[in-house]
Amino acid sequence: MNNTLKKTIVSSIDNSLSPFVQLKNINLTDCQWTSGFWAEKFKTCEEVMVPYMGEVLCGDIGHALNNFKIAAGEKEGEHKGMFWHDGDFYKFIEAKIYVYAQNKNSKILEEIDNYINIISKAQEADGYLQTQIQLRPEVDRYENRKYHEMYNTGHLLITACVHYRVTGQRNFLDIAIKHATLLHTIFMPETKHYGRFGFNQTQIMGLVELYRTTDDKKYLELAERFINNRGKYAVEHTDTTIGYPIGDMVQERTPLRESSEAVGHAVLALYYYAGAADVASETGEKELIDALDRLWINVTQKKMYLTGAVGQAHYGASTNLDMIEEGFINEYMMPNMTAYNETCANICNAMFSYRMLGLHGESKYADIMELVLYNSALSGISIKGDSYFYANPLRMLNNTRDYHAHENVTETPNREPYLSCFCCPPNLVRTIAQVSGWTYSIAKNGIAINLFGSSVLKTKLADESSLIMHQDTEYPWKGLVKLTIEECKETAFDIMIRIPSWAIDSKIMVNGSETNVAVTAGKYATINRIWKKGDTVVLDMPMEIQIIEGHPRIEEIRNQIAVKRGPIVYCIESPDLPKHTNILEVYFDKKQPLVAKHQPDFLGGVTTLEGKLLVRKDKSESMYRTVQTPEFETYKTQLVPYFAWSNRGQAEMTVFMPVVWE
Ligand SMILES: [Zn+2]
Repeated sequence: MNNTLKKTIVSSIDNSLSPFVQLKNINLTDCQWTSGFWAEKFKTCEEVMVPYMGEVLCGDIGHALNNFKIAAGEKEGEHKGMFWHDGDFYKFIEAKIYVYAQNKNSKILEEIDNYINIISKAQEADGYLQTQIQLRPEVDRYENRKYHEMYNTGHLLITACVHYRVTGQRNFLDIAIKHATLLHTIFMPETKHYGRFGFNQTQIMGLVELYRTTDDKKYLELAERFINNRGKYAVEHTDTTIGYPIGDMVQERTPLRESSEAVGHAVLALYYYAGAADVASETGEKELIDALDRLWINVTQKKMYLTGAVGQAHYGASTNLDMIEEGFINEYMMPNMTAYNETCANICNAMFSYRMLGLHGESKYADIMELVLYNSALSGISIKGDSYFYANPLRMLNNTRDYHAHENVTETPNREPYLSCFCCPPNLVRTIAQVSGWTYSIAKNGIAINLFGSSVLKTKLADESSLIMHQDTEYPWKGLVKLTIEECKETAFDIMIRIPSWAIDSKIMVNGSETNVAVTAGKYATINRIWKKGDTVVLDMPMEIQIIEGHPRIEEIRNQIAVKRGPIVYCIESPDLPKHTNILEVYFDKKQPLVAKHQPDFLGGVTTLEGKLLVRKDKSESMYRTVQTPEFETYKTQLVPYFAWSNRGQAEMTVFMPVVWE
């Protein structure tokens, strides 16, 4: 066992020594929220989201800690929850570690140590640790990939690395090392039985983080082995695959390096691509990076919703006609009402982009991170922070469907206080807890501003020089961002500011004067100069209300529009419509202006868009009818941010509306 560990940074992705990245991550503790949107979200995370989730998962409803206690011999009972419940518990611990990293509340650390103590007792002598198998005597280890051992492993490794990075303690890390050593023994040799293992491959990300923490190359080699194995074996059902669709569903029909289309289960795909991007950050392999570039373009330009959400269908088929669950279907096939858009998949889209941002240093990747964060990630949790959506469709109708008729319902009309498939909630909460880390990156000679939020940054540039910089903004509601240098080195360096792709005609002022720096939407504006204390940079982004239409090939939204302002996608929701109005009767009137209005006491403090919409009066129940001239009534109402919908009781909602042009 390696006892001298590398210096690490506090991040889920420690690419500080990765040789093939352009932008390196900061310690998430280097950026401290001061006020505004993310400061408030973090506060809710700290005060409600994490404590509430702890009560659920450590109690009898969630039963996640119970599973470990039973495996540890400290409690009687049986395994409850999905096969991936251990992994979801690790994600919750990860969220808790990020909160501790930022508030240093020692009680949190004690609670985490208590979990680790129980987890350690549950681990078998040879390192194996999977309560869903240990508590099922009828199932053998690594018998079938559907038992999600690789997924649980991935989250164990990531959480243990993050715990070590924050606390310097080895109690969790040593469990992870012992576990990964066993994994290496079993999966490194080429065997047909294990060749197609890896169902939801977070172990690739986990192994790379363990390599980054321990400097032990065998973990990186194993991570690469899992990529190399994919697509190598015949796609046919065997003992190890029965129980779930095969082929494109699990990205095993086409080897990754030959792929140009994102296929299959959206979470599986994007965790896989994210892991491959981690490997590429260490190896610099061009073939792998080229494939990831193609896949990123395919996801974000052919298969992504306006909200940054992905995974169009609960059940469907890939282009090759393989059966797909919870995943990608054909390009441009974008249903609104039945869109699956699992919260995890949306977050994974941002996680993949975060890694691509590191690899290429281009701001378009941070655009996607931001789009997801403000829309299809945050929609997964209530404003209060204690109920969850699993699916995030762009339209919801009230209907007579019995959502509880199905055992493991994932598409619900309201956010639920607990989901029996609990992958999304801790994934979202750990993401909200670490947004501060995503906000800045370290460039070759300077700092990149990826996201906007009032904060103080105290970090070290690549040459170890100290940088203290304040960011003041009321983003995402206002487009003004002010940076003020408090401390920096005496030689010139870059301040790179992301100009979002929607922020056309943005302006940058340095110390009150215009600069000759190129300010182009969709790129970083890079200002290189000798900076000194008191210097200011002001970015002014025009917060125009934008009316958005889709590519003509998206049949589902032909002649429909959506409304966006800055990074925020808006929707219309039934509490803002006349009683008994069906959401399908609402039309957008292109001639009527919308006006932004900030409402600090509404839905946690949001900017709404006020204006007049049209409600169609000539209703019909028949499936088809002869066209009449429609009759409309004008209705004064408001649009609310999509992420904030469904916080006022059960509602109908739509993002896209048919448009009346004149
Ligand atoms: Zn999920």
